[in-house]
Amino acid sequence: MFRKILIANRGEIACRIIATARRLGIATVAVYSDADAAARHVAMADEAYRIGPPPAKESYLVIERLLEAARTSGAEAIHPGYGFLSEKAEFAEACAAAGITFIGPPPKAIRAMGLKGAAKAIMEKAGVPVVPGYHGDDQEPARLLEEATRIGYPVLIKAVAGGGGKGMRRVDAADGFAAELASARREASAAFGDDKVLIEKYLLRPRHIEIQVFGDSHGQAVHLFERDCSLQRRHQKVIEEAPAPGMPPGMRAAMGQAAVAAAKAIGYVGAGTVEFIADVSQGLKEDAFYFMEMNTRLQVEHPVTEKITGQDLVEWQLIVAAGGALPLAQDEIALSGHAIEARVYAENPARQFLPATGTLLRLRPPAETSEVRVDTGVREGDAVTPFYDPMIAKLIVWGEDRPTALRRLARALAEYEIAGVTTNVAFLGAIARHPAFAAADLDTGFIERHLADLVPPARPAGDEVLALAALALLLEQRESAAAQAISDGDPFSPWHRVDGFRLNGEGHTVLRFLSGESEIAITARYGRGEGGQDGFRLDLPGGPLAVRGEVTADGTLHADLGGARLRAAVVRRGDEVTVLLNGRAERLKLHDPLAGIDLDAAAGGTLAAPMPGRIVQVLVAAGASVRKGTGLMVLEAMKMEHTIAAPADGRVEAVNFAAGDQVEEGAVLLAFAIEAKG
Ligand code: ADP
Ligand code: ADP
Ligand code: MG
Repeated sequence: MFRKILIANRGEIACRIIATARRLGIATVAVYSDADAAARHVAMADEAYRIGPPPAKESYLVIERLLEAARTSGAEAIHPGYGFLSEKAEFAEACAAAGITFIGPPPKAIRAMGLKGAAKAIMEKAGVPVVPGYHGDDQEPARLLEEATRIGYPVLIKAVAGGGGKGMRRVDAADGFAAELASARREASAAFGDDKVLIEKYLLRPRHIEIQVFGDSHGQAVHLFERDCSLQRRHQKVIEEAPAPGMPPGMRAAMGQAAVAAAKAIGYVGAGTVEFIADVSQGLKEDAFYFMEMNTRLQVEHPVTEKITGQDLVEWQLIVAAGGALPLAQDEIALSGHAIEARVYAENPARQFLPATGTLLRLRPPAETSEVRVDTGVREGDAVTPFYDPMIAKLIVWGEDRPTALRRLARALAEYEIAGVTTNVAFLGAIARHPAFAAADLDTGFIERHLADLVPPARPAGDEVLALAALALLLEQRESAAAQAISDGDPFSPWHRVDGFRLNGEGHTVLRFLSGESEIAITARYGRGEGGQDGFRLDLPGGPLAVRGEVTADGTLHADLGGARLRAAVVRRGDEVTVLLNGRAERLKLHDPLAGIDLDAAAGGTLAAPMPGRIVQVLVAAGASVRKGTGLMVLEAMKMEHTIAAPADGRVEAVNFAAGDQVEEGAVLLAFAIEAKG
């Protein structure tokens, strides 16, 4: 076995590989771009080397940099992870030339499967069923059109060098063919530097079912059952599970055999995935599956296989790469229970799943147990940058059966707390709870078909969310007032009373939120009524509610909303407030109450403090003539600074407070005379 390996990757997969290496007593070397200097994989590794600036082309894809880091650190082997250089035969060759073991298949096997057309030809020869179509060398548009017509519409044009769903176009009739072909070619040549395509019959109700295979250098090959990856969006996997629901044992055996035949046909060594597409217009049938492509690496979704087999596939990779034999023979590999993986992405489902960036202000995954696993490459406080894949984590659950696994998935997603970056957690939760998913009514069109259920239109925040936001802000305010009192050395000063027994009657404050387009004002009264001494009474859009609660050290808000106890988290950055509740992240904007100060109030000749706070600065002196909008005083409240501005052109008659003074809500800050018009 190796003593030290280098991981030529980043993110969750680098962390996941390091974890197994550590368990096996193998030292680990990480590499990082400037964007990842403080990343989790760097912190986890025993040593780490900088390999360049953030763009992958200048760092994670630079073979020479990676080999240099391996040489410097004395790593004997390189694990490429997935993506990046994992399927580049030149990288595997460069490693060999440098005397470093590439933890992956031989370059020849990578090449054989690298182009989809050539791969299909090899598989046909090995007797593996392939999707009917054309994958010849003649790339003349006229020939391709002729083939499409022969295959029969709809057809799928695929870039032979493709990956990640790029360079694929569905064509429904001959007259659309030329334009789609040109567009697929443009995309393929931009993404892969190769514009060759193949044509396939487009299956109308397809399920993506793939087989995990493993080969060793002693000529053995086995499979570790299937994974169903039919839940896709734009040909990209979103949720994967194993075993495939409804898989007849005969079909499993047939697919497993075909996949092992495929691996043997190319002298495969290491972890690989043979992807098949199954036509389910008549349900899953033994003879209705076709080879699509082979991925010659560890797959993103490999954990579901680990969960149902109890095996560590990275450990297998290391054993095989070090020249060892496969740990288990085919008949020793057993399938137990059901596993589901959901990919948690920084993206906005409400905006066509546009990737999102930002700082992970709060990142609390569900607790890991023997049934719930979280693979991640980021920590709270990390940034999601635009440089790499926006995946935040993979959530993997296991259950004795599919309904149990599904319940655990829904529950774990409801516990996931992420603020600061928009994510697909609520969308994943909606899938996990969808009756059609529970019924395993699967095909690759599932998400598109149910999109209206999965991404409901935005609605203004409900009372529960508003109450939680208001409660958190009020508690924060009370906390800072108490801290202030202590630091002022006079905790008994009436100005610091935070229990609501204000000098001038019942204390109240108005919180204004923006939820989407709607503005919502909530009046909060301190400590009176059913809220109890330490609570608040809120006037919410749906009626009054007594609330109380506390925020524990881990940032969890334990709230009591009119007797209903719940746990949530409220995260504020500036005027942005995110309420995390039950796997949803509701964003509100705190509306600056001073922006809304109205002239009528000022017409009375005074400017009052709209909320309790502390004067941090006085910008004018009594007697000053000012224009409308001129800043007069700066008030700090709710940890934010608010500028009290002149409501109209006029004259400051009196300034009643000085910097450092604590003021009550409603306190007359300044006397102001509006300039007579005319
Ligand atoms: P496929 O969709 O081809 O079956 P996977 O589902 O295993 O493959 O996804 C592999 C893809 O993950 C890569 O093609 C790439 O877009 C993306 N990727 C590459 N490196 C990383 C990484 N370090 N972290 C997250 N995603 C990555
Ligand atoms: P990639 O390299 O991008 O992963 P694949 O050939 O694996 O490309 O195809 C990606 C996805 O596109 C599949 O998982 C499936 O959902 C869909 N797809 C591929 N071929 C067909 C087909 N012939 N008919 C219908 N859908 C297909
Ligand atoms: Mg694929």
